[in-house]
Amino acid sequence: MKNNIKYISTRGQSKELGFKDVIFEGLASDGGLYIPNEWPIIDEKTLSSFKSLSYQEIAYEVIKLYIDDSISSQDLRDIIEKSYSCFDHKDITPLSKIADNKYLLELYHGPTYAFKDVAMQFISQLMDYYLSENNKTINILGATSGDTGAAAIEGFKSVQSSRVFILHPYQKISEVQRKFMTTVKSDNIFNIAIKGSFDDCQNIIKEIFSDEDFKKSKNLTAINSINWARIMCQMVYYFYTFSRIDTVDKKVLFSVPTGNFGDILAGYIAKKMGLKIDMLNIATNDNDILTRTLNSGKHELRKVKETSSPSIDIQISSNFERLLFDIIGDPAVVSDLMIELKTTGTYELDDEILDKIREHFCSFSVNQDEVNSTIINAYENLKTIIDPHTSVALASSEKCTDEYNLQVILSTAHPAKFKDTVMNLLNNDNFVTDKVKSIMNMKEEMIILENDVNMVKKLLREEIV
Ligand SMILES: *Cc1c(COP(=O)(O)O)cnc(C)c1O
Repeated sequence: MKNNIKYISTRGQSKELGFKDVIFEGLASDGGLYIPNEWPIIDEKTLSSFKSLSYQEIAYEVIKLYIDDSISSQDLRDIIEKSYSCFDHKDITPLSKIADNKYLLELYHGPTYAFKDVAMQFISQLMDYYLSENNKTINILGATSGDTGAAAIEGFKSVQSSRVFILHPYQKISEVQRKFMTTVKSDNIFNIAIKGSFDDCQNIIKEIFSDEDFKKSKNLTAINSINWARIMCQMVYYFYTFSRIDTVDKKVLFSVPTGNFGDILAGYIAKKMGLKIDMLNIATNDNDILTRTLNSGKHELRKVKETSSPSIDIQISSNFERLLFDIIGDPAVVSDLMIELKTTGTYELDDEILDKIREHFCSFSVNQDEVNSTIINAYENLKTIIDPHTSVALASSEKCTDEYNLQVILSTAHPAKFKDTVMNLLNNDNFVTDKVKSIMNMKEEMIILENDVNMVKKLLREEIV
């Protein structure tokens, strides 16, 4: 690929990098996140040509714009092809119509039943490609609120040049989520349960990565949703949606169950690249920090509450920093806000910034009763079984104004991944697949650690020699 695209840090203190380095670097050394120095635009003619392309071909057209000469166009096509060969639906992310002008975008057809597979399958293939070029090995470190870990483990389990260390909050994810990770038997996989919340896990990762010497000596790389490649892969299904639904004269809203702000940020970037998205709804559960931010401008951390949608039980929405950078445009301002958040647990956005955000985003939070009744209602009236995260997005979309006469709900996980919650509500277990039934009986392996960065570092020192 011949693009000249470069990546810069949202905090402005790290040097510009090319695509390959950004993928392996993860978090920038100044604490910021990498973002392209400009947004490539896809013109209308090209967009309408997507109608006759497969998911994989659309993926190629979108992803190629972000990649430089570190990879040839045929190799990129091959990587995309391999990445999606393990999905159980030929359309990869099929759309299903659930009501007039309302669709579910099914993102759970990958091997671990959540949308994280869409990016992680690609990233593992891509890293394997780069590593085998020069016979290198890497150690991958990530925190998961339940789904990223499984997707990473699945993607990397047969990448011999890698070791994978995944932190999850002990006893705070669903049993099926945990089993998808802990039943994978491979010498290069380490499951670490931390006695704390997802935010604690994420903070441990951030702290380890801010220790530049440790990171270098242990050759660590991150695959959290802070990794640029994740966002890049997730843009594709927004383009796919527009290629398959007639959006002429429609006001289009996407409703996205949001935790770390990666999935919905991908929609925002797709819009910047030319897609006619009118509104992006940040759907939240009781952990409603982003809803409060959009309402009042005050971004204030509170204690994480446990809900039936654990993948979005998050207060620290890392990717929101990328949006702030894009809206504000000044890395020094972003940097100040992030330092303020870290030291005081809060920052405030002024009206000018807030108005710019509200041009693209709205946000509604839903409580546990609403999530439950929406699952029941979808089953009884829309003949569809949805998981609690999809339910957050659907329930939240119902609070948006009806000027948006075409709504796409991101269905981010298969209901079987949260089978106990869904079974209890519907008195039905037909949706539990054989795959889930079989992993329930498999032996698990994991290491349980206190919420202490030094314990994790000690483990890494022992395992990476
Ligand atoms: C990760 C996840 C989300 C949230 O996505 P973010 O990019 O973190 O906002 C929503 N639903 C499910 C099922 C997830 O696994």
